[in-house]
Amino acid sequence: MAQWFAAKAAHPDALVFFRMGDFFELFFADAEDAAGALDIALTYRGEHRGAPIPMCGVPVHAWESYLARLIRQGFRVAICDQTETPEEAKRRKASTIRREVVRVVTPATVTEEGLLDASRPAWLLALAGAEEGLGAAWLEVSTGAFATARLPREELGALLARLEPAEAVVAPDVAEDAELARRLPGRIAARLVPRDAGRTIREAYGVATLDGFGRFAETELAAAALALAYVKETQAGALPRLDPPRPQTASAGVLALDAATRRSLEILRDQRGGTEATLLAAVDRTLTAAGGRELAARLASPLAEAEPIAARHDAVAFLLGDEPTREALRAALKGAPDMARALGRLALDRFAPRDLGALRLGLDLAARIAGALAAAAMPVPPAAAEAAAALRLDPALAAELSRALSERLPARLEDGGIIAAAYDGELDALRRLRDGGREAIAALQLDLAQAWGVASLKIRHHQQFGFLAELPAAPAEKLLRDPPKGIAAEHAPIHRQTMANAVRFTCTALADLDRKVAEAGVRAAARERSCIAHLRRMLLDAGDAIARAAQALAELDVHAAAATLAAEGGWCRPEITERPEFCVGAGRHPVVEAALRRARGPAFVPNDCDLSPGRRLCLLTGPNMAGKSTWLRQNALMVVLAQAGLFVPAASARIGLVDRLFSRVGGGDDIAGGRSTFMVEMAETAAILNGATQRSMVVLDEVGRGTATWDGLAIAWAVLEALHDRIRCRAIFATHFHELTALAGRLPELRLAAMKVREWRGEVVFQHLVGEGAAERSWGVHVARLAGVPRQVLTRAAQVLAALEARARAGGPDALAEELPLFAQAPPRPSAPASPLHAALAELDPDALSPREAQEALYRLKALATNACAPQHDDTVVTAGKPVS
Ligand code: ADP
Ligand code: MG
Repeated sequence: MAQWFAAKAAHPDALVFFRMGDFFELFFADAEDAAGALDIALTYRGEHRGAPIPMCGVPVHAWESYLARLIRQGFRVAICDQTETPEEAKRRKASTIRREVVRVVTPATVTEEGLLDASRPAWLLALAGAEEGLGAAWLEVSTGAFATARLPREELGALLARLEPAEAVVAPDVAEDAELARRLPGRIAARLVPRDAGRTIREAYGVATLDGFGRFAETELAAAALALAYVKETQAGALPRLDPPRPQTASAGVLALDAATRRSLEILRDQRGGTEATLLAAVDRTLTAAGGRELAARLASPLAEAEPIAARHDAVAFLLGDEPTREALRAALKGAPDMARALGRLALDRFAPRDLGALRLGLDLAARIAGALAAAAMPVPPAAAEAAAALRLDPALAAELSRALSERLPARLEDGGIIAAAYDGELDALRRLRDGGREAIAALQLDLAQAWGVASLKIRHHQQFGFLAELPAAPAEKLLRDPPKGIAAEHAPIHRQTMANAVRFTCTALADLDRKVAEAGVRAAARERSCIAHLRRMLLDAGDAIARAAQALAELDVHAAAATLAAEGGWCRPEITERPEFCVGAGRHPVVEAALRRARGPAFVPNDCDLSPGRRLCLLTGPNMAGKSTWLRQNALMVVLAQAGLFVPAASARIGLVDRLFSRVGGGDDIAGGRSTFMVEMAETAAILNGATQRSMVVLDEVGRGTATWDGLAIAWAVLEALHDRIRCRAIFATHFHELTALAGRLPELRLAAMKVREWRGEVVFQHLVGEGAAERSWGVHVARLAGVPRQVLTRAAQVLAALEARARAGGPDALAEELPLFAQAPPRPSAPASPLHAALAELDPDALSPREAQEALYRLKALATNACAPQHDDTVVTAGKPVS
């Protein structure tokens, strides 16, 4: 157990997989954790300090699938393997086999295909320097991407939302910062920052200075060094191929999307954490895993600068216009392998023959795609031309690889037969020797059968003993009793082993041949390994160029996918401007549209949206289910798609660059996070009011819903004023507070819009059309009628409604709009206490009521109205039980 304790001490935050023969065993708390996580039996063995030792194990032959399950649950696993054979240990006269931790597998440092999600990057995020602003570094072991940034703590949430890191490693001060640590994923690794961070990085890249990589803040260097040291730790000292770290200003050039906005727009994940009803799923027409990852990355961080966005649009427009080139490109991409990840495994010396095969195929396709682009009839725009240039790798590389590798590759390196014939003379000669020996053995079998007079003699190969002649028991006994005479000495039988129903013999000729074949086999295998090592070195020397080519393929895949999508769905190229405008003609919601098409129901109804100067704010009203949320989000999604460099689902779109996009849905609960609905709403609203600029776009869906009517209305009102007067950004505000429409007269840039609804053959028909003006209010009563509420009740309800509306007009928010001081920053007067009837009525949301609730509400209102007619005794307002005068 001493070895186990040593391994555990070196890797306290990992489960130790301790190799014992055909099993990896786990002990103590590790065993308890793993048994629970894997649902396997926990047993006990021996004693430690008087208590039985908990233990469980997984078979070596199936360990990858167990490992995958642990990694997916966020565990780290230290693989403590036998590093010598039992024979070697015996020769050393050691009592135990030597074991060492050969690798630590963690969620962000896996490279195996079976453990990686092909469609998503697995970022490792390193954080250092909690005090003086955070230094962040994030890298992806399997593709080599590496970036750093310095950011204020408030921006960590946005970075986490953008990267969704698989794992975090942090400096001790960050780990001790509960507020930060709480937000990081999984089981955080806390590590000391290497003493000389700059040197750690310089050494990793073999450079004398980091100036060539960009300018780094101290905390960025610390984070980058932390990330490198952690990767090295998990790979038992080896470093994968990594691009040089690129310092980024966390937000520069990128559209800021905070976590709440991503959640509400369902960009990469839907509200329930799934991936199906998302923007990504609706627009993904990529054909390769790397292309899929690139598309996800672009949607997760759209750009905020006109030029690079236009470059992407140019590439999409080119491929949309030039259909033959697009088709040629996509035909080639269809079979394209994941070169970046194959290269990553090669760098870590943890590759399989199929990784070499992937690079062979990838290099071949790269050349073909570069050719297709060169043959294009239309002028190739810069983004595509750059990609084509990156694809033109040294042809000698592809040529050598295709000459070197066998047509069909075996599953494992140990299987041999990876290097093709005629690539290496020495390997060919050794193989001939080995195979020639085999032929000689076949010939010898005939000779021995004749010499020994046993027709059923078979020469077989045994792992332990090599080639032996095997005879059935009866002829073997006769041979032993009465050895054949007059045969060559080298053919004289020598007994080796007696088994239940066969006996094994050899002879000097056979032993000779056996040795020759074995030697040639060993030497051929060694020679093959050295050929493979040569290929590996050759590929790694060209590693940066291959990584660029892989990235170029991914980008072309995304551009061609966007063009395909545009061709399929009639999407248009958005015009990106620097003016604060937003003008979309006949826009659609890509996810809802796709869902409607799948359901073969009614078609999606396109809608315009114009938030140009002079009409920057839009207040949208309409009953439930009329399409408010859909319209709101589709316009926010236009910004995401356009600035990610894709086309948009509209007939026309002119979009002034957005620096920050905010989207909020009222009434969302964060019970798990321990905050009330209203608290969540207000915290999220505060983030907008503090973060939005004149170049931002804000969509607010029923904000203020999470609290009492007057509170909610007051807050919604104040937020609208702030957006209009102070922030002056583009915004759409959907609300059920009809009272807010009273603001239209006061805020010159506010436009009213309403979802059109009509009645047809006694049914409410949602037209899903956005029209000018405010919604009619009577749909709640309408819906009640459709639901079968008795006629008398409805008539009465209509009377009550009319009376209430008249009163509301007299003393309600319309009047309030006149009364309130013009400056929004001034604290609004506390709203006048309403009569119980008013309060009850204002609290009602007719659209949210079930028919039964509507009926009950009516009775309640009627009772209140009757009471209100009785003389009032007292005007005292009661607050928390105490009378206030
Ligand atoms: P609201 O927010 O007003 O309650 P939603 O936006 O949630 O309404 O829309 C309700 C449903 O109406 C959607 O799930 C969708 O099926 C349908 N819908 C919304 N907008 C459209 C549209 N433009 N065309 C067709 N169907 C739509
Ligand atoms: Mg809605």
